[in-house]
Amino acid sequence: MRLLIFALVSVILTGCGKAPEKQTSQFYAMNTFMSVTAYGENAEAALKGVKAEIQALESLFSVTDPESDIAKINRGDSGIYAVHPKTAEVVAFSLDMAKKTGGALDPTMYPVLSQWGFTTGQNRVPAADEIQRALSLTGYDRVSVKGESVCAEKGVMIDLGAVAKGFAGDEAIRILKSNGVTSALLDLGGNIQTIGNKPDGSDWKIGLRNPKGDGVIGIIAASDCAVVTSGNYERYFVSDQGDAYGHIIDPASGYPVQSDVLSVTVIGESGKVCDALSTALFVMGMEKAVDFYRENGEIDMLITTDDGVYATSGAYEAFTPEGGVPVFRIPE
Ligand code: AMP
Ligand code: MG
Repeated sequence: MRLLIFALVSVILTGCGKAPEKQTSQFYAMNTFMSVTAYGENAEAALKGVKAEIQALESLFSVTDPESDIAKINRGDSGIYAVHPKTAEVVAFSLDMAKKTGGALDPTMYPVLSQWGFTTGQNRVPAADEIQRALSLTGYDRVSVKGESVCAEKGVMIDLGAVAKGFAGDEAIRILKSNGVTSALLDLGGNIQTIGNKPDGSDWKIGLRNPKGDGVIGIIAASDCAVVTSGNYERYFVSDQGDAYGHIIDPASGYPVQSDVLSVTVIGESGKVCDALSTALFVMGMEKAVDFYRENGEIDMLITTDDGVYATSGAYEAFTPEGGVPVFRIPE
């Protein structure tokens, strides 16, 4: 008995005295800088697994790598493409979210994005008829997934830019958890996903970037969730005429979204859902985004405008503004 008590006391003592091992992995993937910090005994091995998995997903989803599943579909050699199960899964998911968001999210926007040069970085303002021609090739109802095959009508091209990072984040979380990690912070190019709390038990503190300049306009307290932001300030170009054009396109017009909304942050359990919805709600604009929230619940959101930040109840509680930014609660 005395031995048992001694053993218990020493377990408790060592358990308290030792800070969990912190490991960080930083790398460039999916056209963005990624940083993953994990705590725990197997953190190092887990992070190696995370990096390998994200790189593997990139090589399946990339629009520029000619060997990727998506590039094969986009070359349009035939109508049915055998793809990796993960490609089938992410395409099926995007199509599902496209339906749910009434086409605000549309994974077939590639032809339009490419006219604007967002796929190559060679940005330009296309002529109206070029946009119309590109738009005539889009439409999420022209793609379907059956098992591990993607069927796409001829000329239809896919871009997973709006969901790939969230999907990758969910896969990363699965790998970290299977390695026993109970505390982690993933920053996949601004898509934040967390496991548990900080090792000291407090919430993770996530900065909400100022969509109109440098720094942050507030802090979001988060644990065990994804916090994903979309905005046209993230990636845009300025034309010779001095007009700014952002990378999120309204599928109804083929033009970059222009509205009173500067950014949309979605907080929820699933990285891929938050990623899909942050893009879609940004396309919808304030009124439709609020309607969508009221009809679907399941997530929280922060919408930044020139007037300040509009927050749903959960987000309102989690958000601490900085620099005197006004915060308004969106009525349920
Ligand atoms: P995100 O940063 O998650 O909001 O995704 C933006 C990216 O998704 C863009 O860089 C494009 O690659 C792609 N995209 C732009 N507009 C749309 C749209 N309406 N639906 C789906 N993907 C889009
Ligand atoms: Mg997105």
